[in-house]
Amino acid sequence: MLKIENLHSNIGDKAILKGINLDVKPGEVHAIMGPNGAGKSTLASVVAGKEEYEITEGRILLDKENIEDLSAEERAHKGIFLSFQYPVEIPGVSVTNFMKTAINETRKAKGLEDMPANEMLKMIKEKAELLEIDRKFLSRSLNEGFSGGEKKRNEIFQMAMLEPKLAILDETDSGLDIDALRIVSNGVNKLKSKDNAVIVITHYQRLLDYIVPDFVHVLMDGKIVKSGDASLALKLEEKGYDWIKEEMKA
Ligand code: ADP
Ligand code: MG
Ligand code: MG
Repeated sequence: MLKIENLHSNIGDKAILKGINLDVKPGEVHAIMGPNGAGKSTLASVVAGKEEYEITEGRILLDKENIEDLSAEERAHKGIFLSFQYPVEIPGVSVTNFMKTAINETRKAKGLEDMPANEMLKMIKEKAELLEIDRKFLSRSLNEGFSGGEKKRNEIFQMAMLEPKLAILDETDSGLDIDALRIVSNGVNKLKSKDNAVIVITHYQRLLDYIVPDFVHVLMDGKIVKSGDASLALKLEEKGYDWIKEEMKA
């Protein structure tokens, strides 16, 4: 589904990604871990197509198609979802209405008509029930005065509605509280299928107690320096990252 080959990326003159290789197949959950400043968020942004990041070498393929030259919007239409892609506050626009617009824009990009209103309502109802989101929340103004947990809930709702092929969740270093952790992990676990894939970027092992990854990759100084199964995350929790540096030196 997603294939990243020898990806190099700069911010300004500074090399941030220094040859990333990654292969993600449908149905898989990959975790990317690594110390602060390693380039994890940069990798997410480069895959999603944020403009500030220049690709200097390498390729990104989605279903065997090169996507490096596509805009973030075009990539989103092809099914790449990045968490916090839509963090804007829009007073007067509800969570639901924002999603309706986003869905119809995606359909338009594919040459489809708007989703019939009754079908849209049905989908909203189904996804909201699945994620235990109440009606009141759906009618609130987008991101206006949202708590950390509510932002997460909105993000997971967006993901559920857009049904992305590839979801990239960058759980930053902000330290998810236990509620937010549950919202994210329940959502991901419920939305996981054999046809989609998830990349979870996290600084902390504990999220991976709830979302069990098929693969764990360690990103350090712009490179994936080690990959393994879920047990690698436990080892990182216990021993930190220094042993990997030692291994690399040896
Ligand atoms: P991580 O998510 O692993 O903590 P980031 O991808 O955020 O790491 O950052 C990787 C490196 O790129 C860091 O050295 C950071 O300072 C730098 N960096 C990230 N974003 C920018 C930016 N917009 N401008 C300049 N440097 C940046
Ligand atoms: Mg960081
Ligand atoms: Mg980060």
